[in-house]
Amino acid sequence: MKGIKGKILKVDLNNQQYEVDEKGDQFYRKYIGGRGFALYYMHKEMNPKVDPLSPENMLVFAGSILVGAQGPAIPRLTVCGKSPLTGSFGESEAGGFWAPELKKAGFDAVVVTGRAEKPVYLWIKDGEVEFRDAGHLWGKVTGEVQESIREEHGDKQIHVAQIGPGGENLVRFGNITNKLGHFNGRCGLGAVMGSKNLKAIAVRGTKNVELADREKVLELNRWTAKEGMQTSQGKRLHKSGTWTTVRSNHEAGALPTRNWNKGQFFGVDKISDESWQESIAREGRGCFACPIRCKRVVEVDNELEVDPAYGGPEYETVGALGSTLEIDSKEIIAKANELCNKHTLDTISTGMTIAFAMECYENGLLTREDCDGLDLKFGNGEAALTLIDKIARREGIGDLLAEGSKRAAEKIGQGAEKYVHQVKGQEVPMHDPRVKTGVGLQYALASYGADHMKAPHDTDFVSEEKHGFKSLKPLGLDKPVDPLSLSDDKVRLFYTLEVYWTLIDILGCCCFGYAPAGPVSLEQLLELIKAVTGDHISLKELMDAAERSIDMARVFNNKIGLTREDDRLADKFFENFADGPLKGTGGIDREEFEQAVELYYRMMGWDPQTLEPERSKLAKMGITWISEDEGEDS
Ligand code: SF4
Repeated sequence: MKGIKGKILKVDLNNQQYEVDEKGDQFYRKYIGGRGFALYYMHKEMNPKVDPLSPENMLVFAGSILVGAQGPAIPRLTVCGKSPLTGSFGESEAGGFWAPELKKAGFDAVVVTGRAEKPVYLWIKDGEVEFRDAGHLWGKVTGEVQESIREEHGDKQIHVAQIGPGGENLVRFGNITNKLGHFNGRCGLGAVMGSKNLKAIAVRGTKNVELADREKVLELNRWTAKEGMQTSQGKRLHKSGTWTTVRSNHEAGALPTRNWNKGQFFGVDKISDESWQESIAREGRGCFACPIRCKRVVEVDNELEVDPAYGGPEYETVGALGSTLEIDSKEIIAKANELCNKHTLDTISTGMTIAFAMECYENGLLTREDCDGLDLKFGNGEAALTLIDKIARREGIGDLLAEGSKRAAEKIGQGAEKYVHQVKGQEVPMHDPRVKTGVGLQYALASYGADHMKAPHDTDFVSEEKHGFKSLKPLGLDKPVDPLSLSDDKVRLFYTLEVYWTLIDILGCCCFGYAPAGPVSLEQLLELIKAVTGDHISLKELMDAAERSIDMARVFNNKIGLTREDDRLADKFFENFADGPLKGTGGIDREEFEQAVELYYRMMGWDPQTLEPERSKLAKMGITWISEDEGEDS
């Protein structure tokens, strides 16, 4: 197969040694990339019950069979390990440049185990691997680290996946960044990196990836840059990224506001797309070889000094650090985003944890003294900025909040858990399942805690005229479904869409590049795979690979001891809206939701009580080895 290197780097930090695992085409066709690669090694070589912050946890940095090809929107770096936030399988995807550079440097993935005695960084160049001292980098923020490593090697093209102080200090929602503006945000995998004393992995490759039909790959990229950018998806992403969602969610009455107590924000005009565009937004950026360039960049040159090198907040961040905290200053939100990026904190969990603390404070569960003298009222932007720094450094109240909102509530007691909105301990993102129940299924069922990127959202499938419905018809979509429904048809739609977006993830593709969110169609994706690999891999084989990875994550979580209780949607979404146009309506019917969850388990071939996949399902997927210690077949 073309497009791959056939080599996976395995690093043991305990004794600072490495080996190269060479895999054949069968492995790549079966597992494709991302979580597929990671779960193969996690099942094979790791005890799922280990402490996530122990040396025995595994951290996998994975590309895919496509990553490294100059096609449209294929930049993804997937990082997986056991999550210190959720205690489950953890996974997070980032765009940027690191994974394509790793491929050019000779490897399809890096598997890290152990813990270095002192801080180190890995230096990978054209197949050569070195363990370098990182003592001088420890404690530094990400911009300083990237510059220092590039200077040390005299090469500005080096790409660095790294942690800032948040990861070093084991903040349970610490993330990993590359090129300062791309993030493996969720599940706290930056803390796992910190627990291993691994400050960074720097990569540089000079050897292009061999493709079966390079001209075809480039032709698809040219099509995206020209025709693709004339589509409504391409135009909107390039101009606004995800900012337009602020106003549309507000108008629907479903913009998370004041820790989800409201669905509309009085300050919406100050944080809407138009408002950013007219003030501190600068020219957008992109990822490796991607012509869409949807990444936001902001700059503030007053006393807050927001450095555009750290990019800008996307919709999730504007919600989590803006409306959720009732902060309507773009400059404060931009600064909060920059601080999170410098220190490597996930912006969703950071915002949601501060929102939790603010609600505790407003209700007397936390005093001003508890909060190191901060007046932690909703809307206090200066206090939020101070708190971000304290969380990253685990100072004072920051030490408690660095544990995440669920653990912090357990320590505070007094009923504080009612102010926490989470699944498996991971704070919910900025989409309200009360207006799109498929998102509720995503939150409850994602193997790694609440996530909004597990499947395309319901609103694109409400009529046959909708782009989502039309563009994904080849997957067998046969009828539109109401976004509020929890019918059998909705569960079937969710199941299909989940498998499809998992496929996009394991291929290393960005969901904003491909149907339904982006301009590239499903047919073009299949052409791209053929052009990169030279193999004809059918849609069925690809969808099976995606479903296989979902089964593998389920079995991994089962081995840890997670149960159906861990697939519970946050209580907030079973309550009616308290204000706005949806006031007094919207609460999801708990029984209907549970029935939908049960139907999903059955569709997946999992026992609805034990959640164990039936043996016939594992056999069909060719993975009986994960439950029987049989040894692997690849
Ligand atoms: S669509 Fe945007 S986020 Fe996705 S690869 Fe392209 S520039 Fe990056």
